[in-house]
Amino acid sequence: MSRVAGLETRRGTVTGVMIRGGRVIGITVDTLGEIEIQALVIATGTFLNGVIHIGPEIIAGGRIGEPPTTGITEVLVRAGLQAARFKTGTPPRVDGKTVDTSRCHEERGDETPVPFSSFGPPSALPKRPCWLTATTPKTHEVVRKHIDEAPLYTGQIQAVGPRSCPSVEDKVMRFPERSSHHIFIEPEGLDTEERYLNGLSTSFPREIQEEIVASVPGLEDARITRYGYAIEYDYFPPQQLRATLETKRIKGLYLAGQINGTTGYEEAAALGLMAGINAALAVKREEPLVLRRTQAYIGVMVDDLILRGVEFPYRIYTSRAESRLFLRNDNADIRLSRIAHSLGLLCRADYERVLAKERAIAALMKGLRVTRWSVEKLEAIFGPRGERFHESQALETVLKRPAVSMEDLWENGLEKATGPVEASARREAELLVKYEGYVRRCESAAGKLDELDSIRIPASLNFQTLQNMRLLSRERLDAIRPETLGQVARVPGITAND
Ligand SMILES: Cc1cc2nc3c(=O)[nH]c(=O)nc-3n(C[C@H](O)[C@H](O)[C@H](O)COP(=O)(O)OP(=O)(O)OC[C@H]3O[C@@H](n4cnc5c(N)ncnc54)[C@H](O)[C@@H]3O)c2cc1C
Repeated sequence: MSRVAGLETRRGTVTGVMIRGGRVIGITVDTLGEIEIQALVIATGTFLNGVIHIGPEIIAGGRIGEPPTTGITEVLVRAGLQAARFKTGTPPRVDGKTVDTSRCHEERGDETPVPFSSFGPPSALPKRPCWLTATTPKTHEVVRKHIDEAPLYTGQIQAVGPRSCPSVEDKVMRFPERSSHHIFIEPEGLDTEERYLNGLSTSFPREIQEEIVASVPGLEDARITRYGYAIEYDYFPPQQLRATLETKRIKGLYLAGQINGTTGYEEAAALGLMAGINAALAVKREEPLVLRRTQAYIGVMVDDLILRGVEFPYRIYTSRAESRLFLRNDNADIRLSRIAHSLGLLCRADYERVLAKERAIAALMKGLRVTRWSVEKLEAIFGPRGERFHESQALETVLKRPAVSMEDLWENGLEKATGPVEASARREAELLVKYEGYVRRCESAAGKLDELDSIRIPASLNFQTLQNMRLLSRERLDAIRPETLGQVARVPGITAND
């Protein structure tokens, strides 16, 4: 971070937030004293009033071995925000040298990993395998026998945890019909022998964690290096945020990551990016950046959070997006680079590469439409696969057949008609041709959604004065204060009659 040009970094623990007249004006940092600010992004993860549970032990902490952040929730609550509690958990770690991998199934990563970013070379890091094992009837017996010592079941932990990765005690008790659950033994890094037992999150007392681990094939003699634990922490229900991630009550204050009731790396990274962009734009007095649901998964997530809130820690899934045929990882660069470049977040050279890719896709699509191959050529290539042709066909039509891929056409001479086109553009064009009907339907639905989202609701509108609307709906809208007609339609409980 310190190498990024134009970015000044300081280190320290924030001990106070100063708010005056409904606006954030400063922070206090233990090592630096008071700092005046125009905008603040808080991204404290599990640190706000964090409480760790290991069996009956209750330890104040933001993560194991690190103190919690206290006092900040209280300042924000005094300024009018509402706080709530969630919980999350982590599994025990073991010494890899004590794992018997001969009793586990080797799980290798992708041979050619698809990088998260379209820019820069793929990761050149060496890869290490994971090992798959599973809980046994003995594991389940240990859990059931000691369940009244599990903080989740004694009432010691009150908060709700993520649905996507329940603790082993939850899995055993909630799914009694299952006699086994997967456990992935994952390396913690390249330069350590420590292993993470993915799937075995627990807050049982230490001696019971020992019993549970020893009941799993391959882990009979494993030495626990760190015990699992659960952690309860404060978050701020996200209906209190605008689509920019600025709080509605405190101007200049943005919240990002787990503090918004989410869980996960991608969620935290995306929210941090958006809060950071919008905080910077606000300081520069420029228009905010709000991505639409039809434009990016980030748009789906932010919209879900601010309109629907969260009952348990939120994760983004493809199923949450209406336009998921359009929101693909292979076209993320085409969808979003223009915005990134206009904000100064993507350099000219990278942006030019995306524009070149767009041009290549257009040229390739045209090539597919205008290039026809004779029956003889088509039969010679695809006949051995059982494909029959009765007349010459445009390659666009040929490519729609499930048995035909872009690479088939490419290897058999399409390249001569179009000139060189990089693999990612070929893949993109292939998807556009094969799923043309679905993509078009998806685009048309997205157009309708965008239309409703383009109708802005005046900030001064008093929802309570809308006499034709049910009282309950008026109250809901008044609390959430949607900013567009599309958002109104997505507020839970608002119906077409409203
Ligand atoms: C063991 C473990 C494994 C996980 N595995 C996965 C996984 O496989 N996949 C996945 O998607 N997610 C995983 N998660 C969840 C994911 O790590 C979190 O949801 C995500 O990192 C939250 O990001 P964040 O930025 O909100 O908070 P964090 O990443 O927790 O960062 C919060 C930061 O705020 C700092 N901070 C707190 N208070 C102050 C203060 N007062 N002053 C200054 N700094 C402060 C802390 O030091 C910390 O660096 C895992 C979490 C844990 C604990």
